[in-house]
Amino acid sequence: MKGRLLAACIGLKLTGLLIVWGAHMPLLGWTVFFLCGGGLAVAHLVIPQWQGVCDVVTAFDSGQQPAVWLTIDDGPDPEDTPRLLELLAKHQARATFFLIGERAAHYPELVQQIRDAGHELGCHTYSHPRFSFWRMGPRAAAAEIDRALPFLEATRGEVTLFRPAVGIKNLWLNGILKARKLHCVAWTIRSGDGLGRDPQAIIRHVANRARPGAIILMHEGPEVAGNVRLAAIAGVLESLSAQGYAFILPTEDQFRFAPVKFTTTPTSTKELLCN
Ligand SMILES: [Zn+2]
Repeated sequence: MKGRLLAACIGLKLTGLLIVWGAHMPLLGWTVFFLCGGGLAVAHLVIPQWQGVCDVVTAFDSGQQPAVWLTIDDGPDPEDTPRLLELLAKHQARATFFLIGERAAHYPELVQQIRDAGHELGCHTYSHPRFSFWRMGPRAAAAEIDRALPFLEATRGEVTLFRPAVGIKNLWLNGILKARKLHCVAWTIRSGDGLGRDPQAIIRHVANRARPGAIILMHEGPEVAGNVRLAAIAGVLESLSAQGYAFILPTEDQFRFAPVKFTTTPTSTKELLCN
C-alpha cells in the first residue's frame, strides 16, 4: 500500500476513535472506524481505476508520435493467438500479451511464437484469481506471480510487466512487484470486449477515445463472445491505423503513472500534428 492511502486509512480510523471516545457517539464512531477506514483500503483494491495500493502505469508519453499501446489479456489461446499474430503483422503493429501462467504452461510453443514475432510478454497471474486476489496474503499473492513467470521467461526474454486479473489489486502487491522489478500496467481505454456482444460498438468505443499515449485493453480466448473474438481487435487495428496511429511498445522512460492528466483531447491525429 502506498503511503498516501495508508495515511488516509489511519486518519479515518483515528477520527472514528475520536468520535467514539471524544464525542461519545459509539455508533457513528465505529462506523467511521470500520466502514470508512477499512472500506477505503478495500475500495482501492477492488476498483480497478483506483490506484492507491501501488504505482500503476495508465498511459505513456508518445512524444510527437501518434501512437498507442495495444495490450491483449488472457492468452495464449490455440485458436486466437496464431491469428492475432497474423493480424498484428499485417498492420506492422506490436503489442503486449499479458499471459495467464496456467495457459502459458499448456501452450509453450505459442508463448515462444509471440516472443519470436517481436511482441512483449507480461505476467497476468498464474490462475487469474479475479475474485480472491484482493484478499490473498503476501505468500499466496506472490505465488500467483512466481508460478507464472518461469513459463514466460522460458522464451529467454525478460519480463518486466504485470497486470492483475480484472485490474483487482492486493494489499501486498507494491512490495511484491518492486522486489521482482515488475511494473503494474493498467489501461487508458477499456475496450469492453469481454462483456460486449457487438464488435462494431467495441471498435467505435475504442476509436472514439483513442489518443496518443493511450493504453488499450483487449482480450483473446474463449471468454470473449464468439462474434467478438478477433473481430474487435481486427477492427481496432484497422480503425486506428486509418487514423494514423502506430501500435508501439513504449519503453520504461515513457511510462506515465496514475493519476495521468491528458493535456489535450485531440479528436484526430491530424489535429494533434497541427498543435
Ligand atoms: Zn484477465
